[in-house]
Amino acid sequence: MSTSTPESSLQPLVRLLDHARHVFGGLLVVTIVLFCWQHFGMEKVVELTGDHFPVNIEDDRGGGGASVGTLERKGHDLIVHCRIARKSEWPYCKLTFDLTKGGRGIDMSRLDYLTIDGKYAGPGTSRFGLVLADAEDGLTKLDQWQTYKINQIDALDLPPNGRLLVPMKWFGVAQWWKDMVKPTMEHSAVGLDNVARAELMLSGGGKEGEHVFTLHSLRLHGKVISRDALLMGLVAAWVLCVVVWLTILTLSLRTQLKDSKAAIALLSEVNKALELEARDLAGQAHIDPLTGVLNRQGLRAALMSTSNLMSDPMAVIFIDIDHFKCINDTHGHDVGDDVLRKFANVIAAGIRSSDRLVRWGGEEFLIVCPMTNVYQGQILAENLRHALHRQTWPVGLGVTASFGVAQHHERDEVGVVIKHADEELYRAKQGGRDRVCAHTPMGMVVTAEAA
Ligand code: GH3
Ligand code: MG
Ligand code: MG
Repeated sequence: MSTSTPESSLQPLVRLLDHARHVFGGLLVVTIVLFCWQHFGMEKVVELTGDHFPVNIEDDRGGGGASVGTLERKGHDLIVHCRIARKSEWPYCKLTFDLTKGGRGIDMSRLDYLTIDGKYAGPGTSRFGLVLADAEDGLTKLDQWQTYKINQIDALDLPPNGRLLVPMKWFGVAQWWKDMVKPTMEHSAVGLDNVARAELMLSGGGKEGEHVFTLHSLRLHGKVISRDALLMGLVAAWVLCVVVWLTILTLSLRTQLKDSKAAIALLSEVNKALELEARDLAGQAHIDPLTGVLNRQGLRAALMSTSNLMSDPMAVIFIDIDHFKCINDTHGHDVGDDVLRKFANVIAAGIRSSDRLVRWGGEEFLIVCPMTNVYQGQILAENLRHALHRQTWPVGLGVTASFGVAQHHERDEVGVVIKHADEELYRAKQGGRDRVCAHTPMGMVVTAEAA
């Protein structure tokens, strides 16, 4: 059997489960903190300035117009001077930012809004448009401007304070671009994941003359982690923790079950051993330690447990060693004990296995003989008396005994037949010892004299 204690295999798992509470608590705190942070902070800002990206000014002259655009830099400000001439139908000047770095543009798909801080001076209005040209796989060829998807907002006006906030969702794919390129369905929707170029289109409301647009700043705003990405990540973390926790819990329960089975097996073995020991002790309590035959408790147990012991007829023989005190007094207690042991052996050897020999006390013995009437009991007693005569005893002693025999009657208690046998024994003693007296059913008393 295994000697390992149940705790030894279970403890690490229990410790892990204990830690799980802290892990879940920690995860809950992290979840709340991240959500709050995502909601109220986690700002990501991309600044479109001349310092960070190449900036260019273009005008309508390339398309047959006569408007002239020039760019002036003053500190961080970009100042566009646009002289509008109504030679073309849509006169304009435009400020372009080249956003490509290492062959890729900026992913603006997860940005939320942009802010513009500017100032207009001139004869017309501050009206302007924004274009975000996106390079898309399977559509865009780098050397063909028209293959860039044109996401645009047509007409924006600067408010009096010059600051404008524009949600990214205001961008739509330019209809003129769709008419010209005829993109497939998958390229028809707004795409901002690879913006290669940003343009600020000025028309001055179509008024001829000198228009000045000063751009203090153009910023794109978004979150470092989008709400959806955060949600996905946290759900994954929670699922992972729960799976790990359930796995550990299952392992722990299995180990507990295994340990319980081992403990049950151990207990059942201990139980068995205790049972054996108890049986042994009970057996010892029923045996006379000096002679090894039953004692009075042993007889009581035998009468209760052995159903055919009280069978009818049943005889009881009471035996008492003659002048035993004399043996003790003359030869000592040890010789007396030897005589008692030998005496029990001689009697036990002379009875049937179904008979019970009991040490009643001191030098008195009792034989319970099932299926035996008083006459048969008497014969048995006689045989035993003769057997004692034939024995060789310690220190050359001659040991005799007196016998009282009685038959049990069904209606009587066991005590009655024992009492009768005792009375017969008394008679045998009175008659001179070394003899058998029997209590017959007819009231006839039979006595066998010493040979
Ligand atoms: P009787 O023939 O009338 O039976 O005389 P007795 O001497 O045999 O009877 P008595 O009752 O006077 O003495 C019995 C003695 O048995 C007294 C007691 O010390 C002795 N005895 C009782 N138990 C033991 C025992 O376990 N060992 C020894 N050695 N002696 C015992
Ligand atoms: Mg006696
Ligand atoms: Mg005696």
